[in-house]
Amino acid sequence: MAHFVIIGAGECGARAAFALREKGFAGEITLVGAEPLHPYERPPLSKAGSADAADPKFIATLEKYTESGIRLLTGLEARDFDTTSRTVTLSDGTTLSYDKLLLATGASARSLPGASENSPHIRSLRTHHDAAALRDAMKPGRHIAIIGGGFIGLELAATARLLGAGVTVVEGLERVLKRGVPEEIAHLLTERHRAEGVDVRCGVSIAALTEEGGKAVIRLSTGEIIEADLALVGIGARPNVEIAERAGLTIENGIAVDTYLQTSAPDVFAAGDCCSFPLPIYDGLRVRLESWRNAQEQGTLAAANMLGLDEAVSAVPWFWSDQYDMTLQIAGLADGAVLHLRRDLGPGAFILFHLDAAGRLIAASGIGPGNTIARDIRLAEMLIAARAHPDPAALTASDVKLKSLLAA
Ligand code: FAD
Ligand code: NAP
Repeated sequence: MAHFVIIGAGECGARAAFALREKGFAGEITLVGAEPLHPYERPPLSKAGSADAADPKFIATLEKYTESGIRLLTGLEARDFDTTSRTVTLSDGTTLSYDKLLLATGASARSLPGASENSPHIRSLRTHHDAAALRDAMKPGRHIAIIGGGFIGLELAATARLLGAGVTVVEGLERVLKRGVPEEIAHLLTERHRAEGVDVRCGVSIAALTEEGGKAVIRLSTGEIIEADLALVGIGARPNVEIAERAGLTIENGIAVDTYLQTSAPDVFAAGDCCSFPLPIYDGLRVRLESWRNAQEQGTLAAANMLGLDEAVSAVPWFWSDQYDMTLQIAGLADGAVLHLRRDLGPGAFILFHLDAAGRLIAASGIGPGNTIARDIRLAEMLIAARAHPDPAALTASDVKLKSLLAA
């Protein structure tokens, strides 16, 4: 019987395991995860809605894995694999043979050079375990310093304020969310954080981060010192490529795969946060996406290709962020845009359409309360997938339905 092994029991690995069964695979499936918990959702870890919930939001119950005939090994790390003998060695010394292998190893939090890692007062956030430690510090009377004005930093700032803690955000660049989020939206978010009492400081570099006398102490290059009960380092993620590197696979900002998620080794696939892949809708531009929906879609796609169905990547990148009552959504990649057109969608809600020099819609970014922008972002995503060159005047006119542009 064929044996498919999946390394990494996160969003992508779990989805791939179930998708193999949904697509009719009758062989053996082993899903190996280094974390002690069975697969759970990461997005709630930083969001306010679940900040005080001790339980993780599991992707599926343990019974579902058993019913689906998925052998789930948790708390075990895959240390190495050999593409000649087609074996995987686990941290307990056991060896698994594979016919097809999927690497869904995800990403890890980047650490700040020189700072003591995950000490009681200096932490990062990637796992449920990390989130539980943070939750204890997000209380009235406590002060949290967040290093990095990215998604984790800003979502946690909102969560900490809602739970009553004081927050300072320190961002090295001149504004928050510099990569991927347009200035207009970043500005609006910054103002909202400030209105909620967050001390947002941009263009500030850190000379040292230490733990002293039960506090986190941040020394800025200006000489100023910020003391906090806890410092959260949210300065990005790095793909977990070490195991693939040791096996001799090609690495290129992640484990390099083709449009079928096939790595440079036969019968070895990679998907989710750990891999870089060419995006057909942007003429083969190689990207690595760190997003929940991408992890899900690529899990399903990897399963199809492990079964020999030859399905190419076709998705439009998409992600969201929730901060206070606001939701930000971005579809597509705005790099290379020369024209940014605004469509207002009601109080505090708007979408920016990003067009390239040829007038093609390549991305759309929106922000608004609740789900006010969701429908239009979905339509924009369809226009992006269709490689549409919409009339700029129609994009900005709120009374022209985006659906009509799609039909055109
Ligand atoms: P991961 O979820 O990182 O899972 C990989 C798993 O593989 C991990 O459990 C890891 O321990 C395991 N592993 C790694 N190496 C090995 C090995 N050698 N052996 C065994 N196991 C191994 N995205 C959005 O689009 N919207 C959001 O709002 C959003 N919020 C987020 C909030 C937080 C706090 C975080 C951390 C991420 C958020 N994301 C969000 C990103 C999203 O969660 C990730 O893109 C997604 O989890 C990636 O899935 P993955 O399976 O590729 O990797
Ligand atoms: P991120 O979005 O890449 O943001 C990191 C931020 O920290 C960037 O603005 C970065 O600036 C800044 N930074 C880097 N080094 C710094 C330094 N030395 N001092 C101060 N600032 C510094 O990453 P993240 O917020 O840490 O998130 C980690 C992972 O979780 C990512 O995979 C992310 O996608 C995921 N996540 C996603 C969501 C979401 O999609 N809603 C929510 C939470 C988490 P530079 O650009 O200069 O590096």
